[in-house]
Amino acid sequence: MRLTELLKTDQVTISCELFPPKQGAQLANYKNIVADMAALKPAYMSVTYGATGGTSDYTVELASEVEKHQIPALAHLTCASSTKEKVASVIEELKEKQISNILALRGDIPQNADFPLPNQYRHASELIADIKAQGDFCIGGACYPEGHPEADTIFEDLDHLKEKVDAGCEFLTTQMFFDNHILYNFLYKALSRGIDVPVVAGIMPVTNKAQIKRIVSLSGNMVPPRFLAIVDRFGDNPAAMRQAGIAYATDQIIDLIANGVNHVHIYTMNKPDVAGEILDNLSEIYVRA
Ligand code: FAD
Repeated sequence: MRLTELLKTDQVTISCELFPPKQGAQLANYKNIVADMAALKPAYMSVTYGATGGTSDYTVELASEVEKHQIPALAHLTCASSTKEKVASVIEELKEKQISNILALRGDIPQNADFPLPNQYRHASELIADIKAQGDFCIGGACYPEGHPEADTIFEDLDHLKEKVDAGCEFLTTQMFFDNHILYNFLYKALSRGIDVPVVAGIMPVTNKAQIKRIVSLSGNMVPPRFLAIVDRFGDNPAAMRQAGIAYATDQIIDLIANGVNHVHIYTMNKPDVAGEILDNLSEIYVRA
């Protein structure tokens, strides 16, 4: 199923995220995680590609495993660390496995490397145009409600986002944010720039103290005082921090849905228990697929 069939309706959707194993020996265990996550009946499940130093070798295989559970898979595909030939071979693999949804990303530029080399893509928009030329995929891209860290201004970033949409990106998933007003402001600005594809709001349940430090250092996200107070008060009590993080994410999602943001992606980080608790908290608000 093409995800835009879901995302262009008014129906509320909640999706989850998985990352693939670093070694093939871990694959069986990861397939169990897919099964546990699939039992929660998310609208779709996305599988990352080489994110934060992880591997990309098993993304297609794990995405294919997701579809065995009759849940649409969204396979991420990044290009900054790959040649165009490597990207083309992954596209062929996706076709073979009949996976029709791709989240096309540039990825982070490898440190101390000449970039781009002649056989590399410079921006996600170039990758998107090429995927479109190579097959009938439903292509999504990333967007950044606080602006991408490399962009000088949010408006410059939005201009490039528009190029991405014009290149064939049919929907967007946001970087995580911890204050919903940041997303609402972003949506107005994006619309005023003519970016009118569905935007899926990315929510990260922060369930331990180390996670928030990593997030801020990687993405430069703004963390509101209300959330910092939670980390200060409960950060050294793992069970309390987990419960408060789940409650905070639930609260964000309820506010989004109440304000008409119908599509939410939970950065579940291979934790079906966390995803399950959030969905249980929403049982009267969100009817599972
Ligand atoms: P782009 O859209 O290419 O943008 C990157 C920067 O370049 C921006 O500052 C943009 O304004 C600028 N830019 C774009 N076009 C131009 C142009 N024509 N001229 C000048 N500047 C331009 N990383 C992974 O490694 N694996 C994953 O699975 C993964 N999944 C992600 C999922 C989501 C929802 C998000 C939000 C991010 C994800 N990332 C992942 C991280 C992502 O790869 C990085 O944030 C990366 O730095 C940017 O990727 P992009 O696709 O947004 O790049």
